Amino acid sequence: MKIAAASVVTLDYVLKDEKGVTIDESAGHPLVYLHGHDMIVPGLENALAGHAVGDNVKVAVPPGEGYGERGEEQPMSVPLDRLPKDIKPEAGMMLDAVGPDGNSVTLWIMDVKPDAVLVTAEHPLAGVTLHFDVTVKEVRAATKEELEHGHAHGEGGHHH
Ligand code: ZN
Repeated sequence: MKIAAASVVTLDYVLKDEKGVTIDESAGHPLVYLHGHDMIVPGLENALAGHAVGDNVKVAVPPGEGYGERGEEQPMSVPLDRLPKDIKPEAGMMLDAVGPDGNSVTLWIMDVKPDAVLVTAEHPLAGVTLHFDVTVKEVRAATKEELEHGHAHGEGGHHH
Protein backbone atom coordinates (compact mmCIF):
# COMPACT_ATOMS: atom_id res chain seq x y z
CA MET A 1 0.00 0.00 0.00
CA LYS A 2 1.02 3.58 -0.55
CA ILE A 3 1.60 6.13 2.20
CA ALA A 4 -1.49 8.29 2.73
CA ALA A 5 -3.51 9.79 5.57
CA ALA A 6 -4.01 7.23 8.36
CA SER A 7 -1.04 5.09 7.31
CA VAL A 8 1.33 3.91 10.02
CA VAL A 9 4.77 4.16 8.47
CA THR A 10 8.08 2.66 9.61
CA LEU A 11 11.17 4.47 8.35
CA ASP A 12 14.91 4.22 8.45
CA TYR A 13 16.38 7.68 8.09
CA VAL A 14 19.52 9.74 8.11
CA LEU A 15 19.19 13.49 8.64
CA LYS A 16 22.04 15.77 7.60
CA ASP A 17 22.52 19.53 7.55
CA GLU A 18 23.65 21.62 4.55
CA LYS A 19 27.27 20.73 5.23
CA GLY A 20 26.59 16.99 5.15
CA VAL A 21 27.01 16.61 8.91
CA THR A 22 24.72 13.93 10.35
CA ILE A 23 22.28 15.46 12.83
CA ASP A 24 20.23 12.37 13.56
CA GLU A 25 19.71 8.84 12.25
CA SER A 26 17.53 5.87 13.06
CA ALA A 27 20.57 3.54 13.34
CA GLY A 28 18.68 0.32 13.97
CA HIS A 29 15.76 2.01 15.73
CA PRO A 30 13.34 2.81 12.91
CA LEU A 31 10.96 5.71 13.32
CA VAL A 32 7.28 4.79 13.39
CA TYR A 33 4.76 7.54 12.76
CA LEU A 34 1.11 8.07 11.93
CA HIS A 35 0.85 9.89 8.59
CA GLY A 36 -1.23 13.08 8.54
CA HIS A 37 -0.96 13.85 12.25
CA ASP A 38 1.92 16.37 12.33
CA MET A 39 4.25 13.82 13.89
CA ILE A 40 7.11 14.59 11.50
CA VAL A 41 8.05 17.85 9.79
CA PRO A 42 5.64 18.81 6.98
CA GLY A 43 8.29 18.82 4.22
CA LEU A 44 9.22 15.19 4.91
CA GLU A 45 5.63 14.08 5.37
CA ASN A 46 4.65 15.62 2.02
CA ALA A 47 7.63 14.00 0.28
CA LEU A 48 6.68 10.56 1.62
CA ALA A 49 3.03 10.62 0.53
CA GLY A 50 2.41 8.09 -2.24
CA HIS A 51 5.56 6.06 -1.56
CA ALA A 52 5.58 2.35 -0.71
CA VAL A 53 7.74 -0.21 1.09
CA GLY A 54 11.30 -0.30 -0.23
CA ASP A 55 11.25 3.21 -1.65
CA ASN A 56 14.21 5.43 -0.93
CA VAL A 57 13.30 9.10 -0.62
CA LYS A 58 15.89 11.86 -0.57
CA VAL A 59 14.51 15.30 0.15
CA ALA A 60 15.87 18.71 1.15
CA VAL A 61 13.36 20.36 3.47
CA PRO A 62 13.64 24.16 3.78
CA PRO A 63 13.18 25.69 7.27
CA GLY A 64 9.64 26.85 6.42
CA GLU A 65 8.59 23.19 6.01
CA GLY A 66 10.93 21.98 8.73
CA TYR A 67 11.48 23.46 12.18
CA GLY A 68 10.78 27.07 11.21
CA GLU A 69 12.89 30.11 10.50
CA ARG A 70 15.45 31.38 12.96
CA GLY A 71 14.82 34.62 14.85
CA GLU A 72 11.02 34.42 14.95
CA GLU A 73 10.83 33.68 18.67
CA GLN A 74 11.93 36.07 21.42
CA PRO A 75 13.93 34.43 24.20
CA MET A 76 12.32 34.65 27.64
CA SER A 77 13.84 34.70 31.10
CA VAL A 78 12.32 32.25 33.59
CA PRO A 79 13.21 32.44 37.31
CA LEU A 80 14.83 29.24 38.54
CA ASP A 81 12.12 28.70 41.16
CA ARG A 82 9.53 28.43 38.36
CA LEU A 83 11.25 25.38 36.87
CA PRO A 84 10.33 21.82 37.82
CA LYS A 85 12.15 20.90 41.03
CA ASP A 86 13.51 17.63 39.66
CA ILE A 87 15.62 19.07 36.84
CA LYS A 88 19.12 20.46 36.76
CA PRO A 89 18.94 23.09 34.02
CA GLU A 90 21.61 23.03 31.33
CA ALA A 91 21.95 24.84 28.01
CA GLY A 92 20.31 22.80 25.24
CA MET A 93 17.88 21.05 27.58
CA MET A 94 14.28 20.68 26.41
CA LEU A 95 11.40 21.63 28.70
CA ASP A 96 7.69 20.96 28.40
CA ALA A 97 5.69 23.97 29.49
CA VAL A 98 2.11 25.20 29.26
CA GLY A 99 1.53 28.27 27.11
CA PRO A 100 -0.89 31.15 27.82
CA ASP A 101 -3.58 29.38 25.73
CA GLY A 102 -3.30 26.23 27.85
CA ASN A 103 -1.61 24.22 25.10
CA SER A 104 1.67 22.48 25.82
CA VAL A 105 4.75 24.10 24.31
CA THR A 106 8.30 22.87 24.07
CA LEU A 107 11.02 25.26 25.20
CA TRP A 108 14.79 24.94 24.96
CA ILE A 109 17.18 26.36 27.54
CA MET A 110 19.65 28.74 25.88
CA ASP A 111 21.57 29.90 28.93
CA VAL A 112 21.63 29.32 32.68
CA LYS A 113 22.15 32.36 34.97
CA PRO A 114 22.49 32.34 38.77
CA ASP A 115 18.78 33.01 39.38
CA ALA A 116 17.10 32.40 36.02
CA VAL A 117 17.30 30.56 32.73
CA LEU A 118 16.95 32.02 29.26
CA VAL A 119 14.56 29.90 27.21
CA THR A 120 13.27 29.97 23.64
CA ALA A 121 10.44 28.25 21.81
CA GLU A 122 12.69 28.14 18.76
CA HIS A 123 13.70 24.60 17.79
CA PRO A 124 17.48 24.08 17.74
CA LEU A 125 17.12 23.13 14.05
CA ALA A 126 15.20 26.31 13.15
CA GLY A 127 16.76 27.95 10.10
CA VAL A 128 18.40 24.70 8.99
CA THR A 129 17.63 23.05 5.64
CA LEU A 130 17.10 19.40 6.54
CA HIS A 131 18.53 16.78 4.18
CA PHE A 132 16.66 13.53 4.73
CA ASP A 133 17.62 10.17 3.25
CA VAL A 134 14.75 7.87 4.12
CA THR A 135 13.89 4.24 3.35
CA VAL A 136 10.32 3.05 3.79
CA LYS A 137 10.37 -0.21 5.77
CA GLU A 138 6.70 -0.84 6.45
CA VAL A 139 3.33 0.73 5.65
CA ARG A 140 0.09 -0.41 7.24
CA ALA A 141 -3.34 1.01 7.95
CA ALA A 142 -3.71 2.62 11.36
CA THR A 143 -6.02 0.90 13.83
CA LYS A 144 -9.12 2.67 15.09
CA GLU A 145 -7.42 3.13 18.45
CA GLU A 146 -4.33 4.68 16.87
CA LEU A 147 -6.49 7.16 14.97
CA GLU A 148 -8.36 8.07 18.15
CA HIS A 149 -5.08 8.64 19.98
CA GLY A 150 -3.40 10.41 17.06
CA HIS A 151 -0.20 8.34 17.23
CA ALA A 152 1.20 4.94 16.28
CA HIS A 153 1.25 2.03 18.71
CA GLY A 154 3.47 -1.04 18.91
CA GLU A 155 7.19 -1.40 18.40
CA GLY A 156 8.78 2.00 17.81
CA GLY A 157 5.47 3.73 18.51
CA HIS A 158 3.70 4.96 21.59
CA HIS A 159 3.49 2.72 24.66
CA HIS A 160 0.87 3.19 27.32
ZN1 ZN B 1 -2.21 5.61 22.13
